[in-house]
Amino acid sequence: MSDKYDVIVIGSGPAGYVAAIRAAQLGLKTACIEKWKDKEGKGVNGGTCLNVGCIPSKALLDTSHKYHEAHQAYKGHGISVGKVSIDVPEMIARKDKIVKQMSGGIAGLFMSNKVTALYGTGKLLANRKVQFTDNEGKETILDAENVILASGSVPVDIPVAKIDHDTIVDSTGALEFQEVPKRLGVIGAGVIGLELGSVWGRLGSEVVLLEAMDSFLAMMDQQVAKESLKIFGKQGLDIRLGCRVTASEVKGSGKKKEVEVTYMDKDGNESNVTFDKLIVCVGRRPFTDGLLAEDSGVNLDERGSIYVNDLCSTSAPGVWAIGDVVRGPMLAHKGSEEGVMVAERIAGQKPVMNYDIIPNVIYTHPEIASVGRTEEQIKADGEPYNIGVFPFIAIGRAVAADEAEGIVKMIAHAETDRVLGCHIVGPNAADLVQQVAIAMEFGSSAEDIGMTVFGHPTFSEAVKEAALAVNGHAIHMPNRKRKK
Ligand code: FAD
Ligand code: AMP
Repeated sequence: MSDKYDVIVIGSGPAGYVAAIRAAQLGLKTACIEKWKDKEGKGVNGGTCLNVGCIPSKALLDTSHKYHEAHQAYKGHGISVGKVSIDVPEMIARKDKIVKQMSGGIAGLFMSNKVTALYGTGKLLANRKVQFTDNEGKETILDAENVILASGSVPVDIPVAKIDHDTIVDSTGALEFQEVPKRLGVIGAGVIGLELGSVWGRLGSEVVLLEAMDSFLAMMDQQVAKESLKIFGKQGLDIRLGCRVTASEVKGSGKKKEVEVTYMDKDGNESNVTFDKLIVCVGRRPFTDGLLAEDSGVNLDERGSIYVNDLCSTSAPGVWAIGDVVRGPMLAHKGSEEGVMVAERIAGQKPVMNYDIIPNVIYTHPEIASVGRTEEQIKADGEPYNIGVFPFIAIGRAVAADEAEGIVKMIAHAETDRVLGCHIVGPNAADLVQQVAIAMEFGSSAEDIGMTVFGHPTFSEAVKEAALAVNGHAIHMPNRKRKK
């Protein structure tokens, strides 16, 4: 086989593998290089998302949710289940099985689409040459018409809480605990901190989340964030806002190991709190270690991301970059869409990506999901808007399912009625917000959604009612603003 490719992708996370498959579908001779190895040392695809991110975290969220339901939520339904217990190693083994199944699925897709899977490390040299070092250390220089960099991101570490992979772990370590920690600390009450805190909290840990910011989920719509904070408080998650961790010290040994964490609250007072395990979830950073030769021609921006334009072209001709390693939200689906766009561009098509409509979900229970702009952003942009807020407590399906906490908030332009954003905390929020994403993609008004026939009884009816409420027409609650 010749070593000249139309496309070489470096990284097989959701950005890279999707780009490789789409490129191959379009008839381009494509290879994808991946350096990730599984627990047995075998090269595997899927990147962060499949191996230590979206999929394993959701596997543990689902197990812990079932446990919590069996333990507590069946009360009042007339169901008794006796003593409920959790076998943590079995839960982790199930998660590992799912990861293996999903990454194996990508290897299968590569084969059926004729993507050459290369297991090892890729380095971009000048003039679209790629140095490939396989997992045995053998080097080959590959040539490509186009190179797509999709090297992803890694957790940020902070000097005040150094990861020791035992008492202090990052998100990856928190997917591997072999028993439920009695006292669990989480630094950072962001997306990942909340999800992992929820997993272990549901299984019985006393969870304290220490968050440096004064406001909860500062990037989310604040009405929905406040509603979520109330719900999490009732669940027993101890979320301490305005608390910046300044030091940590691991004490004791063996089973008696614990970590004392020092933090400064918003009034400048110092406090200590001791945990059996501490998860550091303070964000992720773009990963480019060893990726670029000095003369590759690819520039980084001030945050260490690979610099790209709106079409994901880097500063080097024929070299593209997608996913977490470039600007924008660090979300699997954002990278995948960039992958499709770049593959199609390489094949001569002219797609553009709509960065304004990217759904964002936090998989707590209930879920938090949003699409479009928040009320705070719209206000800052100086646009006139109307809001419709509808509570799940007025939705029959939600009440019947005992899932009636939360709200749907829809925001539309005051003059055109075009939907500008939708923010949800509530049952199935991830799937509900996607309905609004589709509507927004087609330039929908709130009235369009309100006029759509929704099945009854469904959770989705909350979306319709929120859309109706934008113009004061909600049926199942008193409208704040009354219009004919
Ligand atoms: P990655 O998935 O990081 O993949 C990059 C790949 O490139 C890696 O496999 C890496 O080994 C490889 N690589 C890097 N350098 C080289 C090289 N030189 N040679 C060869 N290979 C290389 N996002 C969501 O949208 N929804 C979620 O629910 C969600 N949950 C998450 C939960 C957790 C716990 C975490 C940590 C993340 C979560 N994310 C979620 C974020 C999501 O995982 C990332 O946004 C996504 O994986 C980014 O995709 P990517 O392809 O850009 O990079
Ligand atoms: P995310 O980017 O959604 O993963 O969230 C990471 C969170 O960690 C952010 O909300 C940060 O404010 C928070 N954070 C970062 N450093 C610290 C720290 N030293 N102490 C407490 N919280 C922190």
